[in-house]
Amino acid sequence: MEKDPIIIAGAGPVGVTLAEILSSKGIPVLLFEKNDVPNREWRASTFHAGTLELLEETGLVEELIQRGLKADKVQYRDRKNGLFAEFDFAMLKDETKYPYRLQCSQATYVEVVFERLRKRPLVDIRFESEVVDFIQDDNGVTVIVKTPKGKETYRTPYLLGTDGGRSTIRKKLGVTFEGYTHEERWMLVGTTRPFDQYISDLAYVNYIADPKEFLFILRVPDAWRILFPVPPHVKDEDALNEDTIQRTMQEALNTKDYFPIVENTIYKIHQRVAGKFYENRVVLVGDAAHLNSPMGGLGLNSGIHDAVDLSKRMIRIWERTTNAKDELDMYSTVRRKVAINYVKEISEKNTSTLKEENQEQRAKLQKDMADLANDPIRAKQWMLRSAMIASVREQGIGEPPSRQTSFQS
Ligand SMILES: Cc1cc2nc3c(=O)[nH]c(=O)nc-3n(C[C@H](O)[C@H](O)[C@H](O)COP(=O)(O)OP(=O)(O)OC[C@H]3O[C@@H](n4cnc5c(N)ncnc54)[C@H](O)[C@@H]3O)c2cc1C
Repeated sequence: MEKDPIIIAGAGPVGVTLAEILSSKGIPVLLFEKNDVPNREWRASTFHAGTLELLEETGLVEELIQRGLKADKVQYRDRKNGLFAEFDFAMLKDETKYPYRLQCSQATYVEVVFERLRKRPLVDIRFESEVVDFIQDDNGVTVIVKTPKGKETYRTPYLLGTDGGRSTIRKKLGVTFEGYTHEERWMLVGTTRPFDQYISDLAYVNYIADPKEFLFILRVPDAWRILFPVPPHVKDEDALNEDTIQRTMQEALNTKDYFPIVENTIYKIHQRVAGKFYENRVVLVGDAAHLNSPMGGLGLNSGIHDAVDLSKRMIRIWERTTNAKDELDMYSTVRRKVAINYVKEISEKNTSTLKEENQEQRAKLQKDMADLANDPIRAKQWMLRSAMIASVREQGIGEPPSRQTSFQS
């Protein structure tokens, strides 16, 4: 058995998932988080069926379902012409125990998992501890951590980088992060005033297309959330001005009502995938390895899928029942493929359907989506992909390298 714990850098949703699974299998973990508390930002708020299935063996799903809200439909609308496509999760009822999107904030998930980790003797969590550098050798990794008391060094057989989109670990590895960043920023606002009183038959998940100002509307347990673009020439402080936010929401919902705001964030949207997901004994996981548009709720979900895949491999590596290089090669190959062929493809399709400016192209994208929704076989395939069930069935999750060939290449 290894002496030193596995080090996880970053206690976001992906880091805590890895810590949860590894420690539940008897592997000691040392989790460093640069902030002084777990991240309480709402951020992502969707758990797809494929993710709930993967989390089943952790026993976390029941609590998430209790604290979340089931969204049974996804709608695609045009801001001027109204509804043009609707997908009902009931079509997945023979495919999964979870034929819905579970709306539950990422902050709730981190809190639930963190409460478990706090009580687990094999988990050591250090806050105000930022991983700033590392040195790899044949036997392990020396990790340098900045703490309020100064720099400290730790040894680990493997360093798992779950330090988010701006990952220090990815940069220190010198791994490329190819892709693009959208020109406009996006603003996310949460309010306690229900939106379904302004738009009839509004589902809990809505993509609303418009050439100038598309909208994404989402219900979470405590609020309704709306996401809209902020043009490049508008400064952050102007976009975040309360009057501007109220005016945008009032125009979007065609009302003069005041919206009590419970959250607002402005952020950049990227579509980027790391050139490789590991180098020797240092592995990239979640946002550190890939970033995508939030249209589809795939960022958090694909990060949790990475964590489940990698933890299955790390358990075999820890138990020395496998070849570590083969496992990590497979992790990198399969999870990169999922990031590019599933997550990127789905989130780009959703994003372009929303924001296409060319009238003819917009009409075509909307017709394609309407045709898809009206064709039961294709609609079901699209839903299996969107719910992240297809990627698991087709690419596997943490399959031993010897069995991976039975999955689609
Ligand atoms: C405003 C916003 C809204 C979003 N909305 C959605 C959405 O609706 N749907 C969706 O699917 N996704 C959404 N996302 C993306 C989603 O939040 C991420 O995919 C998800 O958080 C990835 O989890 P992670 O654990 O990989 O990274 P993170 O959540 O970024 O966690 C990384 C953690 O590492 C810590 N850290 C960073 N550097 C270091 C270091 N050097 N040492 C130690 N600790 C470190 C950070 O403090 C943080 O706690 C949104 C993101 C943002 C910013």
